[in-house]
Amino acid sequence: MVEDKVVVAAEEVEKGNNLRAESWDEFVGQEKLRQSLDIAIKAAKNRKEPLEHILFYGPPGLGKTTLAHLVAKSMGVSIRVTSGPAIERAADLASILSNLQEGDVLFIDEIHRLNKTVEETLYPAMEDYVLDVILGKGPTARSLRLELAKFTLIGATTRVGLLAAPLRDRFGVIHRLSFYDDEELKNIVANAANKLEFKLDDQGCLEVAKRSRRTARVALKLLRRVRDYVEVHGVKQADREMVLKALKLLEVDELGLDEIDRKLLKAVIEKHGGGPVGVETLAALINEDVMTIKDVYEPFLMQIGLLKRTSRGRMVTEESYRHLGMKIKRVK
Ligand code: ADP
Repeated sequence: MVEDKVVVAAEEVEKGNNLRAESWDEFVGQEKLRQSLDIAIKAAKNRKEPLEHILFYGPPGLGKTTLAHLVAKSMGVSIRVTSGPAIERAADLASILSNLQEGDVLFIDEIHRLNKTVEETLYPAMEDYVLDVILGKGPTARSLRLELAKFTLIGATTRVGLLAAPLRDRFGVIHRLSFYDDEELKNIVANAANKLEFKLDDQGCLEVAKRSRRTARVALKLLRRVRDYVEVHGVKQADREMVLKALKLLEVDELGLDEIDRKLLKAVIEKHGGGPVGVETLAALINEDVMTIKDVYEPFLMQIGLLKRTSRGRMVTEESYRHLGMKIKRVK
């Protein structure tokens, strides 16, 4: 069975995968990407060939991992899941690759975080399905070429810009995942509520959707928190009012900003007169990791026009002052 071979990282279990979309019907939106995957899958199946290597990129929580699972399922092959930082040595990669069967999918999350040696081992594997292993050390060392089964690599990254060009070029297709709109998120929330047997009306689902930073994972997370709140209050059928109360407690505002987003914007305004300020300084000011700011917070704040990235650093927009109810001093 396919599932037998799935290696799920601990982090994934934490994310609560019981709500993972299990079929294409449950996977909402990303229409263009789905159509092009559908064609690629059909064509590969017709030719009885493995699928080309695919790269998915975009902010976290938009469905990259889910898509990799769905692709493997459609191809009727096993999937092996790992991540860039988890593959420390070329030997680790060699062991993973040599255990793959014809057509299998190898999913590498955070592929931009592979180290150089591992990455270089991957090149011939992707291109010619071979692995060059060095046996022994020093003058007696010799290189051995191992044939691999024709596998499909699916890479996922939040930072396509950090990917080395030779790696990027070895992917047959590169897909960007886009943020979801309210209607799509509402569908994701409604489907998940159904699965959880949690009765939330249409307006309630929409309210959760609107505050989900246009991100599927956030929508599912908020839904779970709302469900906790509703259950604790002994309510059987939840509505928008209930959602508003729960989200108020979670300090998620009407744009979906949480405490950290607001802290970040306030830091730019209060400590740097609205910016520009470098991301490292900003990270130190709010005590957050630079990567988290770049991957999680900034993309959404920029999407909704509250933050701008300039060559001199980050700047807030007038909209930011208005949202936070602060007096506009100066926006450069
Ligand atoms: P990523 O790999 O991009 O960080 P995941 O694939 O782990 O994102 O998705 C996070 C959660 O959101 C999963 O539970 C997944 O099933 C759900 N999800 C993501 N995109 C969709 C979608 N388009 N439709 C339904 N559920 C989705």
